[in-house]
Amino acid sequence: MQNRAIKYRIYPSAEQKILFAKTFGCCRKIWNLMLADKITYYQQTKKMLQTTPAQYKKAYPYLKEVDSLALANVQLHLQTAYKNFFRDKKTGFPKFKSAKHCRKSYTTNCQNGSIRIENDRIRIPKAGYVKAVLHRLPEKDWKIKSATISQYGDGTYYISILFEYEEFPVSPVPVTEEQVVGLDYKSAGLYMNSNGKCQNMPGYYRMAQMKLAKKQRKLRHKVSGSRNYQKQQKRIARVYRHISNQRKDYLHKLSTATAKQYAYVCVEDLNMRSMSNKGFGNGKATLDNGYGMFLSMLDYKLAERGGKLVKVDKFFPSSQICHCCGCRNPEVRDLRIREWICPDCGAVHDRDTNAAINIKTEGMRLLAA
Ligand SMILES: [Zn+2]
Repeated sequence: MQNRAIKYRIYPSAEQKILFAKTFGCCRKIWNLMLADKITYYQQTKKMLQTTPAQYKKAYPYLKEVDSLALANVQLHLQTAYKNFFRDKKTGFPKFKSAKHCRKSYTTNCQNGSIRIENDRIRIPKAGYVKAVLHRLPEKDWKIKSATISQYGDGTYYISILFEYEEFPVSPVPVTEEQVVGLDYKSAGLYMNSNGKCQNMPGYYRMAQMKLAKKQRKLRHKVSGSRNYQKQQKRIARVYRHISNQRKDYLHKLSTATAKQYAYVCVEDLNMRSMSNKGFGNGKATLDNGYGMFLSMLDYKLAERGGKLVKVDKFFPSSQICHCCGCRNPEVRDLRIREWICPDCGAVHDRDTNAAINIKTEGMRLLAA
C-alpha cells in the first residue's frame, strides 16, 4: 500500500471556525493533561503510564464537544513521542504545548466515509461540509485514511488529506546513458547536473523583501498586542505563506519535468538536517533552497514512472575524482577551488560539473550491481 497526501485550502464558516478553534484547544489540553500524569506516574513508579482521553472527560466535560478521534490521535502522538524518548534519549522528552506557540492543527480519521470530497466541498467529522478549493482530485482508487486540519498564522485554513492506494508494479525503465543524470548539490542554488546545466532556485524571498520590510516597519508603529498589531502580523504571515507556496510550486514543476526527462537521478546521500546546522555555516541557504524537498518529490515521481532516485554514499569523493581518467586529486577538497586541471591527464574541470558526472557514473555502477 502506498500513501499520498493532498493539501486543500478550505473556507470554514464562522461556526466551523469556532469548532476548529475548540478542537485545537482540546488537543493541546489533552496532550498536556496526559503528559503531566505520565510524568508524575513515572516519578513515583519508574514505569510508563497508559492513559486514554476518555479518562479526562468527566473532569473536563468540554472535551466531549469535539471530535473524539482527534483526541485519540493526540494520545497516539504522545505515546510515540514518549516511547521515542525512552528508546533514544537524544530525541528529548515530550514538551508541554503552550497556547501561544502551539501549532493549530488536529488529525482525524476516516471511518465509513466520514471524510468525503464532493464537488466544491469536503466533509469533515463533527464539522460537516466545509467549502474547499479542489485544485487536484485523487485517483478513483485512492481511499481516504485521515485528514489534518490546520490554521496558519495568517488566519487561513487548510486540510491535508492522506490517501492510501494499491501500488501497481511499473516495469523498470532500462538503464541507458540518456536515462541517467547526476546532480551535485550546490549550497547557493539547487544543483549542477552532469550535463553541465546549473539549476538555481528563484529568489522569491529576496523578491518579497521590500514588501516585507515595509510591512514590518508598519508593525513597529503599532501598539504591541493591539488589534491593529495582530492584523498587521497576519499580513506579514501572508507574505511568508505566499513565498513558501511559490517555492513549493516551483519545485513541483521542476521535479515533474526532471522525472519526465530522466528515469534515474543520482544524488549524494546528504543529511539535510545536519547540513542546515549552524556549524556548517550555510544553514540559511540550505533551508532556503529546498533541495531536500525537491529530492523527496523526485523520489516518488521517478518511482511512479518505473525509475529511481539513486543515492550515492556521502563519503564517495565525487568532487576529487577526474571523470576523464579516474585519478584522485585530494587538493580539490578545498571548496574554494572552482576549476582545476587534472595532474594526470590534463583535463580542465568545472568543480561542480565534474562532481555531477562522477555521481552519475557511481549511480550507474550501483544500478548495474
Ligand atoms: Zn584526469
